[in-house]
Amino acid sequence: MVPSETPQKLRIAIAGSGFGGLLLAIFLQKYCPDHEIDIYEAAHEFGGIGAGVAVWPRFWQVLRYIGLEDQLLEATGTLNKEVFTFHRSQLHKVLVDNVKDKDKIVHFSKRLVSYSEPASVDEPITLTFKDGTTATCDLLLGSDGIRSAVRHTMYTELANEAEGARAEELREMIDPVWSGVVVYRGLVPVDQLQNTKLDLGHVAIIYAGKHKYLTSYAVSRGEFINVAALVGIPDGEGKPYEGPWSAPVTQEEVAAQYATWDSDVQQLVKHIEKPSIWAVNTVRYLPTYVKGRVALLGDADGFILATILSQPGVSRATLPEALEVYDALRRPVSQDVHRRSRQTGHTINLERAGWENVSAAESARGGFPKEMLDRVGAAIEEEMAWVGASSIMDDHARACEMVRERLV
Ligand SMILES: Cc1cc2nc3c(=O)[nH]c(=O)nc-3n(C[C@H](O)[C@H](O)[C@H](O)COP(=O)(O)OP(=O)(O)OC[C@H]3O[C@@H](n4cnc5c(N)ncnc54)[C@H](O)[C@@H]3O)c2cc1C
Repeated sequence: MVPSETPQKLRIAIAGSGFGGLLLAIFLQKYCPDHEIDIYEAAHEFGGIGAGVAVWPRFWQVLRYIGLEDQLLEATGTLNKEVFTFHRSQLHKVLVDNVKDKDKIVHFSKRLVSYSEPASVDEPITLTFKDGTTATCDLLLGSDGIRSAVRHTMYTELANEAEGARAEELREMIDPVWSGVVVYRGLVPVDQLQNTKLDLGHVAIIYAGKHKYLTSYAVSRGEFINVAALVGIPDGEGKPYEGPWSAPVTQEEVAAQYATWDSDVQQLVKHIEKPSIWAVNTVRYLPTYVKGRVALLGDADGFILATILSQPGVSRATLPEALEVYDALRRPVSQDVHRRSRQTGHTINLERAGWENVSAAESARGGFPKEMLDRVGAAIEEEMAWVGASSIMDDHARACEMVRERLV
């Protein structure tokens, strides 16, 4: 096949308009402006719900690269430059504002139920929505979150094509799994806090305890402190989570979890406005993120995927190979980040780094030598070193090279 210099025009469907779907649309519009994009969103409108969100330097690089830095700096609550923190709705608004032609390309109240992909690349993929309507596309990108309908169809098909124990394994990968962690979250108006030991409005802090930790950082230009208070349920990982995945809770319930903690922590949890509890669920380590002309992605994958789709040689016929490049590059990275995050969670929960035999009651009483705490700090730094030591731009260069090697 003779590759074309510019990529063939493709009709791309994106399922979901969370951070992942919006970023993907922005990247695609920038790098492959000839492609036609449609975003199908289950909700009736854009929703930037939730409390705070932190963006680390590795991804900030990408946001700067595509020209969003100034707008994001306007919206951030960050007063130090190690990690950029936002009220979710403010970050969401910047992304929505940067999607071109959104009134035309975003289709609300379109909950994807399943898709079907003919074997021939000349025939379009058909999407079926909950309201009974259908749509077609050349390429389907599933950024429809942890309960992804795209993953459901993809892994049902993979399981149907496999045999015996492998088929069962693949079927088990359809549903998410509980991490064994719940998080209480919400915002504290900064003017409610008095006589704190630390300047909570200016520094991001992690308070560590046995099976629990709490993070706080400023959002909305320092007007609010975002609080995420995580509680690990020993042996809960992998078990089904009983109850709704998120629900309102009382301030008293959160305060009771931290009753013996530092006075700053007690102040914080006592003043969370409308606190809620969230079960933290995860996707299992999938053996692939792609099948044919369909790919799964999270909120950090869009940059590399759009880079790949913008390369010469990418056409309807070569889409499966192009997506294999995406899978080869992004899946190991995202699964490695998942493994490391899980390990760091255990370190902060004082379950590693020499704290294995300290009980929750002993940890609450405190009085441990500073060296023991230093060991936790050193372990966290070591586990998170990759954030500063690696650059997504290396993956960007590698993506271009791999497409050239395989497709052109
Ligand atoms: C409590 C909590 C705190 C977090 N804090 C941070 C943080 O500080 N920093 C950070 O980087 N990450 C954080 N995360 C993780 C981050 O929120 C997720 O990684 C991110 O939201 C994933 O983005 P997404 O676009 O892939 O999915 P989502 O944000 O879940 O978006 C999916 C979208 O798809 C839509 N959708 C769902 N199903 C369908 C369907 N069938 N058809 C059509 N549309 C559909 C949904 O309505 C939604 O709009 C946190 C997560 C939780 C739970």
